Amino acid sequence: MAVAFVSHPHCLRHQMGDGHPECPARLGAIEDELHTRGLYDLLLHRDAPRASVDQLVRVHPLEYVESLSNRSPAEGLAHIDPDTWMCPDTFEAALRAAGANVLATDMVMSGAAARAFCNVRPPGHHAERATAMGFCFFNNVAVAARHALEHHGLTRVAVLDFDVHLGNGTEDILRDDPRTLLCSSYQYPLWPDQNPPTVPGRIINCPLPPGSGSEAFRRAVTEHWLPELDRFAPQLVLISAGFDAHAADDMSHLRLSTADYGWVTGVACEVAERHAQGRVVSTLEGGYNLRSLAASAATHIEKLMLG
Ligand SMILES: [Zn+2]
Repeated sequence: MAVAFVSHPHCLRHQMGDGHPECPARLGAIEDELHTRGLYDLLLHRDAPRASVDQLVRVHPLEYVESLSNRSPAEGLAHIDPDTWMCPDTFEAALRAAGANVLATDMVMSGAAARAFCNVRPPGHHAERATAMGFCFFNNVAVAARHALEHHGLTRVAVLDFDVHLGNGTEDILRDDPRTLLCSSYQYPLWPDQNPPTVPGRIINCPLPPGSGSEAFRRAVTEHWLPELDRFAPQLVLISAGFDAHAADDMSHLRLSTADYGWVTGVACEVAERHAQGRVVSTLEGGYNLRSLAASAATHIEKLMLG
């Protein structure tokens, strides 16, 4: 069965100023690499719908959604936090990024696709219940999780987050929801300078010190994520797919390789095969060196197709 590739032209129009690392070229770099590898035409391409207010308020208060809409500038850039800005197209792009996750979840749940990748921006995992930060506005992966729980009636959804930064927003939103298991690996110390404790059965945090490479990452996943995932037995596996822990990415000091992203994707697919009828929905988070982002994301998607 095919792997869905969900995106939207509006995700290219969100801009946070010249030289900002979270730039539109990220999405094109991934698509170009998929073409180079002969994978692009094998994917099931879908345009992302807008997330509805009902879908967003499962994650964010209505007042927050309205305040973001109100802060959307008619021209120029609106300052949100020291590295997060809204341009006139940002709000629409954020709606499409969250909506991509809803559509991808629907496609995987209905069997229209085996797995799905959302090639979207802005990313989402730093967006807390009522705070936009760290390039993020709506928490896309949390929107997918709540849609799977509330709309599709699942009772156990796992979120895997291997972005180099802690997914503080996802943790803020899901930490009180016993229907979810959140497994994270991240560099610490590193922005957002939080290292919350592991809560067995609910939140599995694996901080990795600067300089850590493949071996430390794979050990964290094998020794800490996997036993909890097999105990939890998720009915759906969601991935916050950030590729900024790559050795070539200046955003951090972890030393992951392109092959590590294929490996961890294979682990996610195996967990999904054991417990979740193979269902995996992945969404793009970080990754700022365009070459390593493209290679890592294409390797991730290739593994979703094979795994
Ligand atoms: Zn990141």
